[in-house]
Amino acid sequence: MSAFDTILENAYIAPVVGEEIANGHIVIGNGRITALGPGPAPESEGAQRIDATGCLVTPGLVNTHHHLYQWATQGLFQDATLFEWLTGLYRLWAGMDAEVVHDAAGAGLAWLALTGCSTASDHHYIFPTGRGDLFDAEVRAAAAVGLRFHPCRGSMDRGQSEGGLPPDEVVERTDDILTATAEVVDRYHDLSFDSMLRVAVAPCSPFSVSETLLRESAALARDKGVRLHTHLAETLDEDRYCRTHMGCTPVEYMEKLGWLGADVWFAHAIHLRDWEIRRLADTGTGIAHCPSSNARLGAGIARVSELLAAGVPVGLGVDGAASSELTSMAGEMRQAVLLQRAVRGPTALGARQALRLGTLDGARNLGRDTEIGSIEVGKLADLAVWRIDGFRAAVADPVCALVFGPTPPLARLLVGGRTVVADGELRTAAQDELAAAGVRARARLLREEGSR
Ligand code: ZN
Repeated sequence: MSAFDTILENAYIAPVVGEEIANGHIVIGNGRITALGPGPAPESEGAQRIDATGCLVTPGLVNTHHHLYQWATQGLFQDATLFEWLTGLYRLWAGMDAEVVHDAAGAGLAWLALTGCSTASDHHYIFPTGRGDLFDAEVRAAAAVGLRFHPCRGSMDRGQSEGGLPPDEVVERTDDILTATAEVVDRYHDLSFDSMLRVAVAPCSPFSVSETLLRESAALARDKGVRLHTHLAETLDEDRYCRTHMGCTPVEYMEKLGWLGADVWFAHAIHLRDWEIRRLADTGTGIAHCPSSNARLGAGIARVSELLAAGVPVGLGVDGAASSELTSMAGEMRQAVLLQRAVRGPTALGARQALRLGTLDGARNLGRDTEIGSIEVGKLADLAVWRIDGFRAAVADPVCALVFGPTPPLARLLVGGRTVVADGELRTAAQDELAAAGVRARARLLREEGSR
């Protein structure tokens, strides 16, 4: 142990892998977990000790699907189907610029940090021309908040004139997309074990991109050694769209284009046939389950218990805030359990299974399960310390208090051993300013009075 160590002690530890420890300690050195065990930590001169009495420590939560820019368009189109919601919002999103993206991302990421998320992916797919460097804007926002960030360079090239859903003004040319995507991979993607930033390639959805873009994106991602992400099988409208325009189901279409594999994860995957679940399992293709968004848009309930039984890797995602206002990753664990049980009975998904989806299985979707997602010696010290004292202490099982109950207060969030949140307050940046910037982003995008 060295003078630079941090020690968390007197905590209930739920490591996700290995036995839970009712009263234990975790030692952190150089941003990694160097020891954990029952009882107090051994004496260590100069180490920073954090007393976690009354707290549950879990791995930091891993968000596998998001659209941070949507922080600026929450609370709109409250009663629309996905296609109606998208059609209405595309017109607003067409006005975004780097400032909107930066401010929305800062607020959205701060919110995730404050609710226990240590690694966030983002799927940004609208790049109107001449509005600044939107990708860099969200990268800067993530660095300021201090979360591990996996931005996915999204894209759309199939506007209405080509039979797609988005208006032509928000789509890009296929070649421009591929060039820009290769550039951001080369510029930002960091493969190191401690990496704070990895990029994925992510055309938006089958109904907004061309077959060429899907094929070429897969080739580009494999050439660069990065992961692939997109939306799939979110609604019955999409299933009908694919069968009408492509002559096959969404999963068949993606398989044809080389988009099934252990380096791919799809958001949603709600409307799957039994054989499609088997294809996903056989190929190791992952899913980002977003239960709040799916329920909010009335899209349906993914067959999570059956996906897990088949061996499909399933992580959780909050999805964009325009379809899941102010949603937290802890809230998604709860929502996942409740929705599965509501339709498939009380053994469909357990508290510890949900915690695993929200941590280690999500990390697998992002290709980070050797580095994060569980509390094990040698892994990065990404830890969420939840207050489960007071009223919550009445719940017999701390993991149940976290997953079945509303999101507990956060005593501490560590990312690579660095304190990002302490006592429910962001410590890396000014929380009130980020919140205010999130409101400004909405005003600027919606051209509200006095914002221009
Ligand atoms: Zn989404």
